[in-house]
Amino acid sequence: MSHVFPRHTKSELPVAAGGDGAYLIDADGKRYLDCGDAAVSCLGHSNPAVIRAVQQQVEQIAFAHTGFMTSEPAEALADLLIQHAPGDLDRVYFVSGGSEATEAAIKLARQYFLEIGQPERRHVIARKQSYHGNTLGALSAGGNAWRRAQFAPMLIEMTHISACYEYAEKPEGESSFDYGQRVANELEAEILRLGPETVMAFMAEPVVGATLGAVPAVEGYFKRIREICDQYGVLLILDEVMCGMGRTGHLFACDHDGVAPDILCIAKGLGAGYQPIGAMLCTDEIYGAIRDGSGFFQHGHTYIGHPVATAAALAVVRELTEGDLPARAGRMGSKLHSALEAAFGQHPNVGDLRGRGLFRGVELVADRETKTPFDPSLGIAGKIKKAALAEGLICYPMAGTRDGRNGDHILLAPPFIINDEQ
Ligand code: PLP
Repeated sequence: MSHVFPRHTKSELPVAAGGDGAYLIDADGKRYLDCGDAAVSCLGHSNPAVIRAVQQQVEQIAFAHTGFMTSEPAEALADLLIQHAPGDLDRVYFVSGGSEATEAAIKLARQYFLEIGQPERRHVIARKQSYHGNTLGALSAGGNAWRRAQFAPMLIEMTHISACYEYAEKPEGESSFDYGQRVANELEAEILRLGPETVMAFMAEPVVGATLGAVPAVEGYFKRIREICDQYGVLLILDEVMCGMGRTGHLFACDHDGVAPDILCIAKGLGAGYQPIGAMLCTDEIYGAIRDGSGFFQHGHTYIGHPVATAAALAVVRELTEGDLPARAGRMGSKLHSALEAAFGQHPNVGDLRGRGLFRGVELVADRETKTPFDPSLGIAGKIKKAALAEGLICYPMAGTRDGRNGDHILLAPPFIINDEQ
């Protein structure tokens, strides 16, 4: 009998015993094409350069607490990320995963305003149908009603404007651009309602992952968001934990929107699954407020900047950038989209095929004409996950959030090394 506490307590899971490129192999030797273990394994499961980097770093020095020492891989990784980062992002704060990155971003925004003498700024505005992690601060920012429900009494008060979700929420007759401007303007209305002097940050995913299934914003939406943030002195936090690190065809997903945030969160693809790591990037203006002010960011964890995790991520980012893999993700993503169109474009239960690069979503509906979702009690997403696993395919089906019109969807996020045949 297992003593592991699994997330799903009522299902038996195969045992992962090996990896071979785009495939995971279980203890019985069965191979699974990995098309989206939550968009982590961007380099597949047997990348020799990353494996070597981890081995070498463990042999050299596995751990040194960042309260006492920095490390060579952490320094080199920060340099490399900043070399490619959008806008004025200048400093990198390493953490162990996505929730830690978004949680740290919220705390940094708060401390920044304290340091610059605006202590009344305390509100975070985020979006409905979003996911920013499972720790209490990150969960408070997320707008996924189902994930929030049982912890609702413990969550920090944050407000949520509409997502930019063209397929389900744009009325017929309104142009995509006008729709994007209209829902972006909800941010301005919310800032004014709360009082501009009390709002510290707006947080959003450039391409919504887990909650909606690879939904990018329409053209012009994030430019308008940036304008509003600038107008009211509100920090823009972009959460690229899932959509970042090359998955959308650019190293950073916001490059596609032509917008740079004040704080950027990354994780999943940063360690590519070889080590647990995330990061929060911020501008020198934000970092400088602390450097020249109190001199201490009042937040942290034991394993921040872990040498082995940063060594793995350094090797990952070198693979991504030197191998031009984000561009490959863009090309292979177009092929995947065409293949999905050919196979399911006319399917009566497929409402929408969307996404960017190798970050694709399939929205499932009971009625294609009316876009009516399936009855949640049918458990469509769970059934697809099980059936796919039996066929040797790992994909990421999710139930609708039940707080909007969106229904079940399947997220597909294969490794960038995937080939045509696979
Ligand atoms: N932010 C986004 C956009 C995510 O998709 C996720 C995880 O799916 C997180 C944050 C939380 O990351 P983690 O599960 O590594 O804590």
